[in-house]
Amino acid sequence: MPNVETLQPGLTRQFDRVIEAGQLSQAYIFSGPSGTGKAQFAQWLAMRLFCQDLQDGQPCGKCPECSRILSENHPDVVWLRSDAKSIKVDDVRTLKQEMSKSGVEGSRRVFVITDAERLTPGAANSLLKFYEEPVPGMLIILTTAAKNQLLPTILSRAQIINFPAPARDQVIATLVSGGVNQALAQVAAHLTVAPAAGQALAEDPSFAARIDKVLGLVESLAAGDPAAFVQVQTDLVPLAKTPPEQEQTLALLALAYADALNLHYEVNTTPAFGHDARVARLAGRSARTLSAGLAAVLAAQIRLRQNVTFQSATEALVVTLGRG
Ligand SMILES: [Zn+2]
Repeated sequence: MPNVETLQPGLTRQFDRVIEAGQLSQAYIFSGPSGTGKAQFAQWLAMRLFCQDLQDGQPCGKCPECSRILSENHPDVVWLRSDAKSIKVDDVRTLKQEMSKSGVEGSRRVFVITDAERLTPGAANSLLKFYEEPVPGMLIILTTAAKNQLLPTILSRAQIINFPAPARDQVIATLVSGGVNQALAQVAAHLTVAPAAGQALAEDPSFAARIDKVLGLVESLAAGDPAAFVQVQTDLVPLAKTPPEQEQTLALLALAYADALNLHYEVNTTPAFGHDARVARLAGRSARTLSAGLAAVLAAQIRLRQNVTFQSATEALVVTLGRG
């Protein structure tokens, strides 16, 4: 687990003071991009509240309370995580049953809902009851990378803590100092701002292979080569078996188009693919072709989430891109 102090310096000390002063709110929204340590901080906060051996305001991470929180086996620290596309009323109902289980009166309980933007309106409304009738000692934390998708009623009743993303160049420098080569670090830092996640990407041999195949496709698209259509099946599909691999493949293609647009307009920004000749060649197309291409990749990413197969979504995309 990445150290929360490294991810968000200052936040632990800020909350330490708030807790010492007895000013902890009942509801928080941790808002910030993926990889900024929101869930880790929720875990830190729970440990800070339960730890039996605080050291200078920091939880020890070793006592029975900390251990149970770290392994997510603590009865009074309950997580609602869902891999589903949405968090439904039933999920919230289960959580509320957990909430109302009678512990000792006024005892501390912590509830964390991650990716709260996925709460359906019904689920969010069901959660509002807690906000309206808070129980002493209860703390609820919602984490989200898309705060603007939360209901205003939810937003207005919680205290919002912003988790800023570190500058991309800083993420790249961290990865390079950890032994990742510059080219891979640049691509990885465009996909996640978490050093550990970026490191894991760079160490996955299929990541480099996928970049290579996506750039091969870009080369064909830049040249207007009809072979691009076949490359989807021969080059991309074998490396895009799981949903995360499929999402990553389209994300890499989106980065190539974004790089090409920036290059076309001579925008001074750190590119994902450095000065790759294939992306440079794509940048020679018209701005209209490039922005329509980027929009088409984003549309394909949405279709992929709607149960269209990767191969058919990507083949249709390549036909569109080839027309540009
Ligand atoms: Zn402890």
